[in-house]
Amino acid sequence: MKAIQVFETGGPEKLTYGDRETPAPAKGQALVKLAASGVNYIDVYHRTGLYPLPSPFTPGMEGAGTVEALGEEVTGLEIGQKVAYAMSIGSYAEYAVVPATQLVPVPTGLSLEQAAGVMLQGMTAHYLSHSTWKLEAGQTCVIHACGGGVGLLLTQIAKMRGATVIGTTSSAPGSAKYERAVKAGVDVISNYEDFAAKGVDVVYDSVGATTFEASLNSLRPRGLMVTYGNASGPVPDISPLKLSQKGSLFLTRPSLGPYIATREELLWRSGDLFRWLTEGSLLLHIEKTYPMADAAEAHRDLESRKTSGKLLLKN
Ligand code: NDP
Repeated sequence: MKAIQVFETGGPEKLTYGDRETPAPAKGQALVKLAASGVNYIDVYHRTGLYPLPSPFTPGMEGAGTVEALGEEVTGLEIGQKVAYAMSIGSYAEYAVVPATQLVPVPTGLSLEQAAGVMLQGMTAHYLSHSTWKLEAGQTCVIHACGGGVGLLLTQIAKMRGATVIGTTSSAPGSAKYERAVKAGVDVISNYEDFAAKGVDVVYDSVGATTFEASLNSLRPRGLMVTYGNASGPVPDISPLKLSQKGSLFLTRPSLGPYIATREELLWRSGDLFRWLTEGSLLLHIEKTYPMADAAEAHRDLESRKTSGKLLLKN
């Protein structure tokens, strides 16, 4: 099969397109013929080595397609069934083996592109707003990079829950990214230079190094700082005393895996997203679909901050 492989970590040019043996599903796994694969920032961290993986590897943590073959002891799945998943490595390829417990059925009315595009960023937005901090009407949150993939989805879900959203973006008023954030429902939108929020309940910070301090300063006493990404680099070590000095703050550094660790949570989060998309109450913006061979270009675009919403790869 055709696939992207990373033989050594580094820049986008390390995403090598070529032939690779098609994997066979082991016990408990299914082989999925991928119709679309999502590009996510975590793929950049794998490629650069910030999140280390043994080489060589095929990147990509998200996809949707049809079940091609089943390993032993898999129940509840059929050959030809439409499925989607997140957080299993290897989706930059024609086929991927995925633990059967991580696959969710794609309902009628939803395309495989939409399903591939919403799983990882959407379930992240879901757990951040429903579990890490249960947003409620009357609360205020900060969402950094509100015009990005997670940002646009998290903003819409925060608004569904009745919260006020203060969002940041580097894009200027009138640009497509800025206007998309406004359409998603951001109440107060600012760039990172002029950004100053005060007394908010929770900050969702995916930018990391450059925004961390200002994010802490935005919180009310006993508010929650959620640092969930490193788009500008990882946050340096901090002393717990700082949290005390700034008003008995809480700090968490979550990742999606533990929030979809049970089948029940996985089906809850993906089920909500699929339903909202089908009803039209959640909009997924697919910015661009690249041929698989152009994965490096997709990474360059994502890292250059010019994209908004979802990037997909197709075979
Ligand atoms: P985005 O589409 O949000 O792209 C990143 C955005 O961050 C850019 O578009 C840019 O928006 C903003 N940004 C701010 N500073 C920088 C910088 N120095 N370099 C590059 N971008 C910058 O990507 P995703 O939605 O895929 O992911 C967003 C973040 O969320 C990532 O850090 C990712 O790792 C994290 N994440 C974490 C998960 C978790 O469970 N912990 C799961 C999923 C994602 P602008 O130009 O408007 O500032």
